Amino acid sequence: MALISFTSKGIYCPQGKFYIDPWQPVDLAVTTHGHADHVRWGNRAYLCHKLTEPILRQRLAEDLSIQTLGYNEEISINGVKLSMFPAGHVIGSAQIRLEYRGEVAVVSGDYKVEHDGVSTGFEPVKCHTFVSESTFGLPIYKWQPQQVIFNQIRDWVGANKDRNKTSVLIAYSLGKAQRLINGLTGFSNIYVHSSIANLNDRFIAAGVDLPETIRITPELRKEELQKGLVIVPPAMADGRWVKNLISPAVGVCSGWMRVRAGRRWRSADAGFALSDHADWPGLLDAIKATEAEKVFVTHGFTATFSKYLNEIGIAAEEVKTQYGTEEEESEVVE
Ligand SMILES: [Zn+2]
Ligand SMILES: [Zn+2]
Repeated sequence: MALISFTSKGIYCPQGKFYIDPWQPVDLAVTTHGHADHVRWGNRAYLCHKLTEPILRQRLAEDLSIQTLGYNEEISINGVKLSMFPAGHVIGSAQIRLEYRGEVAVVSGDYKVEHDGVSTGFEPVKCHTFVSESTFGLPIYKWQPQQVIFNQIRDWVGANKDRNKTSVLIAYSLGKAQRLINGLTGFSNIYVHSSIANLNDRFIAAGVDLPETIRITPELRKEELQKGLVIVPPAMADGRWVKNLISPAVGVCSGWMRVRAGRRWRSADAGFALSDHADWPGLLDAIKATEAEKVFVTHGFTATFSKYLNEIGIAAEEVKTQYGTEEEESEVVE
């Protein structure tokens, strides 16, 4: 029997009797990372990396039943050896490695191969079967190094200051926000929305080294925000709060800005192609490094990407899942 099967509730390991990132409630949800489409409320118990635990308590409920693992730590569940390896996607993100009677399968969750400075860097894991995302699985998606993007953002904020505009960056609160804060530290006062501040407080309490930011409160004067850099999640982008700032200039940080696709962001003043997912070369490098005999392609450009893998001699199949492909991952603002 295969080590992984795709069921109506999610990715299932029949030998271990657990699910990975299920979209319907189950007894044990092994969780790759804290984005809303990969971890849902209502499971009896969760198993995740130790830095994903504070995210689940913040976003789902304080009293969840959660067991944690560090990277490279192994446990056995019904005879299946389970361990977690860094996925480089967001803080706490993990690829799940399963081993049973010499057969190895790895479920990537979401991943990126560029080291972002805040999450533990992606580590390829050799396996027979690899389950890969393909959010940006088209050849046009090729990222520039993040330092180039950070420099573009610095220039843009500088130009906004010269024109007395308030710089507002749109970034989802788990992942992109911490990456920006870390990359732009020391350059300007950084003001963050409470959904970002809440997560940052949890991370700092868990020992993550994050630069200081200022939580946005109603008492803050607009003149202060104008002199600094404001970071808010996508749900705030078109809202009144942003419109009421002093001449706001809105910059969207998303892989989709690579082609300015999607009507959603057409009104933005600037776009910065910064993604927490692997680009086309990154996906290919990662998959080749696993040396997998079989690749299952989940969310994203599954058809194009799996077809291409087959063309270059890697047996691949697309799989229907309920994970999102929007980078903001249907984020709710707490
Ligand atoms: Zn994600
Ligand atoms: Zn995803």
